[in-house]
Amino acid sequence: MYRFLLLALVVWLPVTFAASESKRETLVIANSKAWKPFSFINQKGEPDGILVDYWREYSRVTGTPVRFLLLDWEESLQAVNDGRADVHSGLLWSLSRDEFLDYSQPIMTIDTQLFVSRDLLNVDMVELLSGKHPFLLGVVQGGFEHSFVKRNYPQINTVAYSNNAEMISAAFDGDIDAFVADLQVANFYFSTTQGTHQFSGVQHLYSGVLRPAVAEGNNALLLQLARGIAKINTEAKHRIFSRWMYIETVYPNYLVPTLSALAIIAIFSYLVLLRMTVRAKTRELELANRELKHLSETDQLTGLGNRYHFYSQFTQRVTRADTVCVMLLDIDDFKQINDTYGHQVGDAVIQAVGAKIKHIVEKHHLTGRIGGEEFAVVCSDFTVEQAKRLADTLCDSIRRLVIFDDGSKVTISLGCAYYLRSNQEISLSHADNLMYQAKANGKNQWNFKLIDGMPAKSTTPKSDSINSREIS
Ligand code: GH3
Ligand code: MG
Ligand code: MG
Repeated sequence: MYRFLLLALVVWLPVTFAASESKRETLVIANSKAWKPFSFINQKGEPDGILVDYWREYSRVTGTPVRFLLLDWEESLQAVNDGRADVHSGLLWSLSRDEFLDYSQPIMTIDTQLFVSRDLLNVDMVELLSGKHPFLLGVVQGGFEHSFVKRNYPQINTVAYSNNAEMISAAFDGDIDAFVADLQVANFYFSTTQGTHQFSGVQHLYSGVLRPAVAEGNNALLLQLARGIAKINTEAKHRIFSRWMYIETVYPNYLVPTLSALAIIAIFSYLVLLRMTVRAKTRELELANRELKHLSETDQLTGLGNRYHFYSQFTQRVTRADTVCVMLLDIDDFKQINDTYGHQVGDAVIQAVGAKIKHIVEKHHLTGRIGGEEFAVVCSDFTVEQAKRLADTLCDSIRRLVIFDDGSKVTISLGCAYYLRSNQEISLSHADNLMYQAKANGKNQWNFKLIDGMPAKSTTPKSDSINSREIS
């Protein structure tokens, strides 16, 4: 019994080793030489792409050496059929292929779409696919899409190319109006090639599963592949796919830069507009504020400063100057003017007196209508002579105003207090008292007083009609 077992072991062991040895024979893997990004020959002349990486991973996990045989698509199928290659690295199932190939487990799913040039974007899709609108559709010779188009859209004029690279290059050159390609393939070319003709994916045609295939009947190899593929873990697959599938959707190359540029222009224009609008609004607001300030400071009847404005300016004017002259003017018998000629004429008189003051007193002095028919003037750094001359001019020119048809005159009484800065506190009260003294003295005159305790020179009245005087 033991002898028999020993004999069986002696026979079985070499057979097993031989079998495992045969697994380590180099596998020749075929596919397209220009099916980017699945399988292609790169610029260095080396095999590259998702399926190449996938089978290199297969080689790593199984210890089986692999060699790639990358050809034109149809020839790659032929190579598996005639034994030049052991495995086709990944393709879709079809009835015609099933006649000479056996398929292994799925590797990944691919989506195939119809891509059309910009000129065809406006054409109705049903009309386009029915062949009513003539156009040239590129397909890869012997590719699944070739047979798919022939079967489903026999009326469309197709142009067959040896591989995707040639087909897409022809499309970019404007030789064909549309082409059928896997989404991943088109994405790859769109993102790596500059073409003058722009294409967009307009119709999903089919989704399919890429699976490796061996020559029909090679069950041993199928089993070997099944075991090996099972060893490739999900993480490794994900790493390989994501390395190549960096573009998810079909957008023309120019879209992102164009959109970015448009967004930048839009933001820039918006900012410029915003700036201009803010500036314009700020200007409007400043103008409105200035108008409001002017209105709040101005007496509407005369255009002189109003009471509020006069008092707000008074203190700073009198503290800045070395000498200050404060004058208070009150229209004589104004109540009577109102009573005789009416309130409107009264207003006109106030306006005329205001205009006269405005005309005579230089702009840099402070003037204001501080009561009904009462005005004030503050002059800084005036000489005594200048002050008296101004008081006299004011009385004189107002008296000369021609307002009433009956020859009646408008007269004022004016009090003028002249301060030397070192002296007393400056207020309106001195001028007010002086003005009332002028009234008491018969009106139509000015009263001058030097407020420093020093005796002042007396002046003679300007004329018979003006009883101007000064008080020391
Ligand atoms: P005196 O010579 O002593 O100054 O006498 P008066 O009549 O001028 O003095 P009074 O203060 O008695 O009268 C001033 C009048 O001015 C009283 C008021 O009805 C009138 N008044 C005040 N403001 C206005 C105004 O804006 N328009 C008009 N038309 N009259 C005004
Ligand atoms: Mg008065
Ligand atoms: Mg008066």
